[in-house]
Amino acid sequence: MSLANGRTYLAIPGPSVVPDAVLRSMHRASPNIYEGELPDMMPNLVRDLKRVARTDGHVAIYISNGHGAWEAALANTVGVGEKVLVLATGFFAMAWSRIAEARGIEVDVLDFGNGGTFDLARVEEALKADSAHAYKAVMAVHVDTSSSNRNEFAPLRAILDELGHPALLIADCIAAMGCDRFEMDAWGVDVALTGSQKGLMCPPGLGFVFFNDKAAEGRRRLKHVSTYWDWTARAAPEAFYQYFSGTAPTHHLYGLRTALDMIHTEGLEAIWARHATLARAIWAAVEHWGQDGPLRLNISDPALRSHAVTAMAIGKPHGKELRRWCSDQAGVTLGIGLGMGTDEDPMSDGFFRFGHMGHVNAHMILGLLGSVEAGLGTLNIPHRPGGVTEAAKVISGV
Ligand SMILES: *Cc1c(COP(=O)(O)O)cnc(C)c1O
Repeated sequence: MSLANGRTYLAIPGPSVVPDAVLRSMHRASPNIYEGELPDMMPNLVRDLKRVARTDGHVAIYISNGHGAWEAALANTVGVGEKVLVLATGFFAMAWSRIAEARGIEVDVLDFGNGGTFDLARVEEALKADSAHAYKAVMAVHVDTSSSNRNEFAPLRAILDELGHPALLIADCIAAMGCDRFEMDAWGVDVALTGSQKGLMCPPGLGFVFFNDKAAEGRRRLKHVSTYWDWTARAAPEAFYQYFSGTAPTHHLYGLRTALDMIHTEGLEAIWARHATLARAIWAAVEHWGQDGPLRLNISDPALRSHAVTAMAIGKPHGKELRRWCSDQAGVTLGIGLGMGTDEDPMSDGFFRFGHMGHVNAHMILGLLGSVEAGLGTLNIPHRPGGVTEAAKVISGV
């Protein structure tokens, strides 16, 4: 017997759950790309996107996934042979650094491991040592989706300012923009990038690069930027096609319009609070289960945890078995462990993740946790029963 039939929940950290309203708005005949509704809706779309990043700067939109946004941000900020400093707290920062290397950029990585955030003293030391200002950018990930840690950017800005270091501060916000608090202008981030398929609740296919005037000015230093990746015309187009350097992602734009309406109707503060409460419910369940068994949250300090994704260790092969059971028997798909491989567990089979980003509410999270608790029981994985009750207490505010 399977109990999986019914509405499924893809509880992986991206792509995320797409609201029916977003899907419905995409279900239409192809719109005219030369005049009318679609070109006309762009100025407000741009305005409402920038409100999500909390910036008065500029935004370039790409037909791409997150990897494309990674490329786009680098293409406009750092030239071949120039140098960057990468602050890594997980797999995604490392992957981004390899993309920089492949572009001919010289990369120095400060690796802070998979369990926490930056050591600011080490960051300061590295930037101080760069008195010649060779680093053109400091690249860091807001939420590293592999470790599920969350990093602060205001302290990085403070270090750069204190040293008078001109490097751009570039933030990968793909995992959690629209889920975890992020304030591009207030935190002094020069370039922030994200994608459509996580907190923005759309299908994969759009990449966004937000940038301020300082970054726009820096762009002029670069001799060669490919026409396609160049953010200049995309952010200040004279004709509609220049937004996308070609044909517009027609249906995605309708989906995005609806998603932005949903975001601004609920309000970013309310969305951040919803994600925070649902995350606390998840942590309460996992910590309870872990009292009598191997399960533990990857990030031990709650202040350093994302509210959009949660990575957990449960020991090989339990992670893999649990994912299989939840998907086959309960209709909820958990995320794989990513970049957590060790010599004993090269495939990260002892890890799994919950994606709880975007269009998720209390009943989905309680259903997710209830399914996991049932799976722990069925698979005889040691745990203390009653984690769902602990989650329910958080949800009910008791
Ligand atoms: C998902 C994600 C990416 C990669 O996005 P793709 O759409 O898979 O290319 C990069 N960085 C972070 C932090 C992510 O969460």
